[in-house]
Amino acid sequence: MLKIKTNENFASLSGSYLFTETQRRIRLFEAENPEKKVIKLGIGDVTRPLAPTVVEAMLRAAEEMGRADGFHGYAPEAGYGFLRTAIAENYASRGVDVRPEEVYVSDGSKSDASGIFDLFGDLPVVIPDPVYPVYADSCVMSGKKVVYLPATRENGFLPTPDLAPDRASAIFICSPNNPTGAAYGTAGLAEWVAYAKRTGSLIVCDAAYSAFISSDCPNSIYRIPGAKSCAVELNSLSKSAGFTGTRCAWAVFPRELGELAGMWLRRQSAKFNGVAYVVQRAAEAALSKQGMRESEENIAYYRRNAQKICSVLSEKGIYHTGGIDSPYIWLKCPGTDDSWGFFDRMLHRLRIAGTPGAGFGKNGEGYFRLTAFCSDEDADEAAERMRKLL
Ligand code: PLP
Repeated sequence: MLKIKTNENFASLSGSYLFTETQRRIRLFEAENPEKKVIKLGIGDVTRPLAPTVVEAMLRAAEEMGRADGFHGYAPEAGYGFLRTAIAENYASRGVDVRPEEVYVSDGSKSDASGIFDLFGDLPVVIPDPVYPVYADSCVMSGKKVVYLPATRENGFLPTPDLAPDRASAIFICSPNNPTGAAYGTAGLAEWVAYAKRTGSLIVCDAAYSAFISSDCPNSIYRIPGAKSCAVELNSLSKSAGFTGTRCAWAVFPRELGELAGMWLRRQSAKFNGVAYVVQRAAEAALSKQGMRESEENIAYYRRNAQKICSVLSEKGIYHTGGIDSPYIWLKCPGTDDSWGFFDRMLHRLRIAGTPGAGFGKNGEGYFRLTAFCSDEDADEAAERMRKLL
């Protein structure tokens, strides 16, 4: 019998991780109804294959690794120079000035969004509600105080700084947002930058879905003047280039943030041993002009899926947002269903698996998330089932 004292903060985490519970219910339904096909519009995993340019780069790098003169061992903790440069060039192509030295390559934005808590002392962590659960879970695990910002239909799911404490805090912004699909416009992001500068706060801007932006919303917080002195940006190839299983992302710590970048490198050196050479070459290829062109085809494919689903919801008069700057569609559960009630109804009646909004925070109750990361056949079939049965 273990007698060690464990981390008491774990007791404050919500019961089970959202996707574990949805998976459990889906598996149960499938076991009881083996003949019925469930369309999976739940977990935010992509389905389109890697771009040919990426695969070629991986093969070339794998071949190099098999030669004595091409072998690579531990990668640098901050990433190979070639990838840091490719990321900086990608920002430059979007008119954003980021230097290679400000880029820290990692195996995923999830790792970065959870690891960044190591840098914070005793301060409030401001997190929108609803949002990607990893921020709040990591915050709770590390014993920090969370201040939730209500993201509601009334504020377009984009909370404003007047809801935040008037003191130095760490603020998580997820734009475009998972799960609501809402993206801040220039004015909205500028308000946050002004707030951060006034209060001495740090913004952590998770831009994992920035490649999906099709409106004029900024695709980097650094488009806002002054943001480099108050914001870290996280981005990932998971959703933009189908790297959910390949794993490559980055955090930008601008020089203007002073000691924070050094602390991040120190933290990464202690806890992380770099991203595989083969993967970094693949990431470099994904960020090349040809790689971006090929991935853009997949993004366009997901966008078409989103439009199919949104059209049925509009036909049915069901309130929804997202699907424009985001692969996620966020809908108000029709009738009297709560989020989990609607999840069960969708699963049992329509055989469509989505994600209950309540799993993303208190304000997600009564809402439901569908993703467009499916095949076009599944999007058509899901739209048809919703048209007939919802
Ligand atoms: N950030 C957001 C907002 C996400 O929704 C996700 C994954 O769903 C991630 C980060 C994780 O990204 P990665 O695969 O790079 O760890």
